[in-house]
Amino acid sequence: MASTAGKVIKCKAAVAWEAGKPLVIEEVEVAPPQAMEVRIKILFTSLCHTDVYFWEAKGQNPVFPRIFGHEAGGIVESVGEGVTELAPGDHVLPVFTGECKECSHCKSAESNMCDLLRINTDRGVMIGDGQSRFSINGKPIFHFVGTSTFSEYTVIHEGCVAKINPAAPLDKVCVLSCGISTGLGATINVAKPPKGSTVAIFGLGAVGLAAAEGARLAGASRIIGVDLNSDRFEPARKFGCTEFVNPKEHTKPVQQVLAEMTNGGVDRSVECTGNINAMIQAFECVHDGWGVAVLVGVPNKDAEFKTHPMNFLNERTLKGTFFGNYKPRTDLPSVVEKYMSGELELDKFITHSVPFSEINTAFDLMLKGESLRCIIRMDE
Ligand code: NAD
Ligand code: ZN
Repeated sequence: MASTAGKVIKCKAAVAWEAGKPLVIEEVEVAPPQAMEVRIKILFTSLCHTDVYFWEAKGQNPVFPRIFGHEAGGIVESVGEGVTELAPGDHVLPVFTGECKECSHCKSAESNMCDLLRINTDRGVMIGDGQSRFSINGKPIFHFVGTSTFSEYTVIHEGCVAKINPAAPLDKVCVLSCGISTGLGATINVAKPPKGSTVAIFGLGAVGLAAAEGARLAGASRIIGVDLNSDRFEPARKFGCTEFVNPKEHTKPVQQVLAEMTNGGVDRSVECTGNINAMIQAFECVHDGWGVAVLVGVPNKDAEFKTHPMNFLNERTLKGTFFGNYKPRTDLPSVVEKYMSGELELDKFITHSVPFSEINTAFDLMLKGESLRCIIRMDE
């Protein structure tokens, strides 16, 4: 055990004091991990849209002061009572949703929606005792989705921590904590395109590009990127996209445009926009008889999915997925191995990198739509 085990650690963390205001690097106290928890030294973290949504807190419950961050790579510093699968020194990826390995979801081969540790964006405290492990002068600072990785040290439930190959570069594989695995798994685990098939990807942000990367790995022969923003097209070629459609440039519905391009419809589609119209289009553009559409985007709360039931009777399938159907602890280590073997490419998702002291720059880049992933180097 490290000499810091069992003691409070003082370290730097980026605290969001108020919605939408720049984060402030503060000295925080991080309490030791309690039962079933681990304390992790974060080496690299990256910024995902979800951090930005909850920091802006426009449609969400404001929970402040809070430490955001949920995509990261780090090393276990110490473990609490009852932790059996992790030890100090282990290289890990924290995950915003967990795997308790005990509930009916964890025991089902089909689900990754753990009853105990499923994402909860309103909770700002640990699940064990309802307390925060972060404080400044005795005043608690709230957690975010059980991970709070914008801190040099953080405390996380054992069930939300994937132990990975220690040879994997944490400054690269940290992006597998959330968005990239979500898009990748949506294609590989859920859409499952047969080799040589045609796949449409709606939305070419980081998640959609990861879905395209999944289609490339699966051996799809045509990958059609659909986006309202044509600036996204050229860069998407690196992720396997072979053709592009901008719905704004057509008078016909995009479903019809895709049907004409593909002799009746695409074999698979993956929606990564969060826009309800794109969700409906992604379903209606798949081929009758065998087409499968997968929804990934998070819609706004009043959205309703409307389509004619004949579209189902004609043997089209509609599915949705959470975190690409990956079980965080069981499956993420093998995704890391796909990167280690050179099969999965991650470097192309990493467009920027900043020291921890410049974390607000990462927010600016994402808000301007300039970055896919910006890595934040915690030791600088
Ligand atoms: P992003 O904003 O970077 O990219 C979205 C893209 O969709 C943009 O390029 C935009 O131009 C395009 N778009 C928007 N409306 C469109 C439409 N009607 N037709 C075609 N293209 C359209 O977002 P991102 O970070 O890549 O995330 C994508 C979605 O995935 C978000 O809704 C996010 O909340 C969701 N997400 C879901 C999960 C999950 O587990 N299901 C996990 C992470 C993220
Ligand atoms: Zn569970």
